Amino acid sequence: MSKFILRFDDIIPGMDWNKFLKIKEVAVKYGVKSILGVVPDNKDANLSININMSNSVFFSTLKEFAEYGDTIAQHGTHHTYTIKAGGMLGINE
Ligand SMILES: [Zn+2]
Repeated sequence: MSKFILRFDDIIPGMDWNKFLKIKEVAVKYGVKSILGVVPDNKDANLSININMSNSVFFSTLKEFAEYGDTIAQHGTHHTYTIKAGGMLGINE
């Protein structure tokens, strides 16, 4: 039996839910559980492409994913750079 790790980052109320749900539905069809990296207080305008889903709908959706068996993870806090260092890999100054 094969095992997969499927992680989605940048999960926020204003993300492109249409694209995400198309992929997520395939994962669910095959019983694949995911790690969902949520940005709890997004300040990165590049991530918000849709009209924001309300927080109550967002959190109830996350709860449904968790009940399915997905793992809810934190992906940063604001999703912004606060330093100019490139990190361990020296990229993305
Ligand atoms: Zn990210």
